[in-house]
Amino acid sequence: MGKRRIAMVLAAVMLLGCAGKVESAIPTGPVGSDTLYVKKVEDLPDDFILGMDASSVIAEEQSGVRYYSFAGEEQDVFRTLAENGVTHIRVRVWNHPYDAEGHGYGGGNNDVEKAIEIGRRATKYGMRLIVDFHYSDFWADPGKQMVPLAWKDMDIGEKSDALYAFTAESLKAMKKAGVAVGMVQLGNETNGAMCGEKTFEKIAKLMQAGSKAVREVFPKALVAVHFANPERSDAYDGYAKKLEVFGIDYDVFASSYYPYWHGTLENLANVLNGVAETYGKKVMVMETSYAYTGVDTDFSGNTISDETTTIIKDYPFTVQGQANNVRNVIDTVAHVKNGIGVVYWEGTWITVGTNSWEENHEKWEKFGSGWASSYGGSYDPNDAGKYYGGSAVDNQAMFDPSGSPLESLKVFNLVRYGNEIEPRADAIADTVLAFDLKGKIELPDTVDAVLTNNETRPVPVVWNVSDADLEKMYAGGVQTYDITGTAEGLIAHAYVSMINFNYLKNFGFEDGVLEPWRIEDRGGADQLNVENKITDSLNGTYHMHFWSAKKGSVDFSLTQEVKDLPAGDYTFTISIMGGDAGETDIFCFVLVDGVEVGRTPMQITSYGNWDTQSVAGFAVREGQTVTVGISVRCAGAGNGAWGKIDDGLLNGVG
Ligand code: CA
Repeated sequence: MGKRRIAMVLAAVMLLGCAGKVESAIPTGPVGSDTLYVKKVEDLPDDFILGMDASSVIAEEQSGVRYYSFAGEEQDVFRTLAENGVTHIRVRVWNHPYDAEGHGYGGGNNDVEKAIEIGRRATKYGMRLIVDFHYSDFWADPGKQMVPLAWKDMDIGEKSDALYAFTAESLKAMKKAGVAVGMVQLGNETNGAMCGEKTFEKIAKLMQAGSKAVREVFPKALVAVHFANPERSDAYDGYAKKLEVFGIDYDVFASSYYPYWHGTLENLANVLNGVAETYGKKVMVMETSYAYTGVDTDFSGNTISDETTTIIKDYPFTVQGQANNVRNVIDTVAHVKNGIGVVYWEGTWITVGTNSWEENHEKWEKFGSGWASSYGGSYDPNDAGKYYGGSAVDNQAMFDPSGSPLESLKVFNLVRYGNEIEPRADAIADTVLAFDLKGKIELPDTVDAVLTNNETRPVPVVWNVSDADLEKMYAGGVQTYDITGTAEGLIAHAYVSMINFNYLKNFGFEDGVLEPWRIEDRGGADQLNVENKITDSLNGTYHMHFWSAKKGSVDFSLTQEVKDLPAGDYTFTISIMGGDAGETDIFCFVLVDGVEVGRTPMQITSYGNWDTQSVAGFAVREGQTVTVGISVRCAGAGNGAWGKIDDGLLNGVG
């Protein structure tokens, strides 16, 4: 085995010609782990791409970051990646990420030169490079596809010539340096735009120019296109169809897949299968990642944190949760038709220091190791210019803040062999409870433990709460408490809300039906229904949804009638959010025995901005009927008014 391996390495060196010595560090057997549970991915092809985007490494190293092996020794991070099963390194390439004085825009200052250095080091350890041309001077994604400054005044013919020349020259330089290029991307997350162009006819011209350059310089490399948002129905089929109609010469249709936002794995499999079957293309996930902690480590806020509530969280934010996400994405793509690989995004982008924001900021500015430096503002004033800073994904890296690899890094190797050790509790699911101020607080004896294999099971819990604490909670009025406990040696959280009893039934639509709410649809809206979508709900997973295209057709009221209330004073509260509303007349109101006793105006502005209003302190006598509700009238603007209503509360006062 050993001799055979040497022979193969020699052959590789000869093939590479002038390249440096290749010492493939990719293991041929399981690396083993005492703590990481990995379910084997069945029928994983030997040549399945297990990639890591490591674009920031050089800027990180220039900032003083050191990377270590599992043995605790400082070593080339590319060697560590290879030793744990990574087969491909992905690197982004920006045309010229520097201002007129030569200050880097940040995000790794990833120009061609850096791609070559990263490529050489990846090649040295037996990995191949995936070149991710953004065709921009800085970040390109579905939100922005800015043209490189040097190309901004070109017409489409000149621009495609320039793109061809840039691609060919960059790749030739890589070839000369002995970089093993395995794949080249024509743009990054090019959902409907690329290189400043927004019509597909022009985008197609640019892509074709890029493809031609790749075919000429690296005829064996795969040509990839890359899109995001697989959760949008029919979007991928639409892109693939356009690529076919315009005759783009490419091999791989690649997708980003961030599980927080990008739908289920089942949906991902469906859309990738669709492209593979209909258009005969190879498919893959070009970016995925998952948080191993909710805590920021570099003093620059993260995209995902413990406080992020508007996301889908299929796994706990643990090292094991991170590995489970990677394993399941690999399992999904491996079983899709023509599925060829999965690339993790920026697993090496860790903090450049643990002392202070000031110290880190200096390094981000000088070496470009943050997502954007202040200099980035000269090119991208609306984003980099306002929000420049450090890494927003350091909690999704696969190295800890000191540069040591996390156990999850082994997942790239262990998916091939499995490491199905006895599952143990890895995290405790949060317990969410609500008690009436006049009722009794009863904390559960068990909580749900999330096991290392991502199954859950109830385990005993001891809450750190005294009788005196409970007395304070009864006396403290309406508020939410975070009570901690211990279960299986892990910390458990119970979020206990002390509330006034809510006399409304199905108050937050969590029954999944409208009843006993009623709708009076005065305008004939296109959509007026209870919807199951956690990210659009104020609480829980359901809410009342409305949308209508025609002007003035959003005009309805939503009411609930309550009888047999104890005599006393009450307050009614409800929440709404929405947009594209134009002129509105929205209010919550209360009728007692059919007579209006109060109304309060409400507003909708934009997504996620809930307006919560009340009709406060109205009196109800024995035997009276109370009707609470919200009336919504929107003139509509643009795409039609839309909105969400949630959490009606009818509470006694005092
Ligand atoms: Ca951060």
